[in-house]
Amino acid sequence: MPVKNRFAELQAEITEWRRDIHENPEILFDTHRTSALVAEKLTGFGCDEVVTGIGRTGVVAVIKGKSDTSGKVIGLRADMDALPIHEETGLDYASKTANAMHACGHDGHTAMLLGAAKYLSETRNFNGTVVLIFQPAEEGGGGGKEMCDDGMMDRWNIQEVYGMHNWPGRPVGSFSIRPGAFFAATDQFDITFAGRGGHAAKPHETIDTTVMAAQAVMALQSIASRNADPVHQIVVSVTSFETSSKAFNVIPARVQIKGTVRTMAAEIRDLAEKRIKEICAGVAATFGGEADVTYHRGYPVMVNHEEQTDFAAKVARDVSGSCDEAPLVMGGEDFAFMLEERPGAYILVGNGDTAAVHHPKYNFTDEAIPAGCSWWAEIVEQRMPAA
Ligand SMILES: [Zn+2]
Ligand SMILES: [Zn+2]
Repeated sequence: MPVKNRFAELQAEITEWRRDIHENPEILFDTHRTSALVAEKLTGFGCDEVVTGIGRTGVVAVIKGKSDTSGKVIGLRADMDALPIHEETGLDYASKTANAMHACGHDGHTAMLLGAAKYLSETRNFNGTVVLIFQPAEEGGGGGKEMCDDGMMDRWNIQEVYGMHNWPGRPVGSFSIRPGAFFAATDQFDITFAGRGGHAAKPHETIDTTVMAAQAVMALQSIASRNADPVHQIVVSVTSFETSSKAFNVIPARVQIKGTVRTMAAEIRDLAEKRIKEICAGVAATFGGEADVTYHRGYPVMVNHEEQTDFAAKVARDVSGSCDEAPLVMGGEDFAFMLEERPGAYILVGNGDTAAVHHPKYNFTDEAIPAGCSWWAEIVEQRMPAA
């Protein structure tokens, strides 16, 4: 069973929606235009219910099958937000907004789920209910969590959830997935080292925070190399180092460092937080200063559920002939919160030989639309077969 013919017919129309969204990117929860466009289309398709304002600017829509004796309810989720990146693609439908760009392909995800919604409203060839979830603020804002916190899962009695992300570097329209931990937990740390500033020529009269923080940056690398069991995955990256003085002849009184921790297991996440606090306090004490550590837990590990992953892979094989095992991804994914609330699976669809996501020259590949839409539709029709 290859891609559905209907999506080959709809591809030009879905591509138009995608490019319109691409041209008008909106960041985090500010997806007002995109949410309105999504709600308007869903209403036009004849969805049984369209609700806006879930998780601030999220949109939820319901499509009932020809019959509903199964009592099954499946949630399908797309993300709508763009990134604060200045687009450099030179496309004729490139972003019209400076420093905002669909550089992660969420324009494509939204358009593909709209395409599936159009098809499913037309055909309703299933026994059960589909809930379409369009979330804002995937890129670090936790929009998916806010939709869950708004009671979405219970309100629509969602029993399983499925998600999809395009993946550059994989053949267009091919699929890959893995069961269990898939995307990393993404935490942030913010550490201020305090000492005593002074003249750079009289270091003995200061407590030098630059030397202190530099030692800490190096020591933090020992969490991955010396503390965590090497069979586990962990990344500790210091990404910002700012001194309170910018002068060449002043020893700064404070240095602030920031960074991120990526882990795939709860115990390694706990270990990283504990060691960052211990190492920074210890290094600061060594030099007679102090460290103030703020550790912020972001997205949890995104864990694919076994049964739903097997099913999602089977559907992918039906659509494109094969489904590969995806590698672990040390990036984060807000869909993790939905998978904490309900069983489900998240799959990658190939975007071809394009720039990587979050790159100013990235673009979603419209040729992936028929495969992506067919996967959504088949998830519904196979999981809730018509009576
Ligand atoms: Zn992204
Ligand atoms: Zn993304």
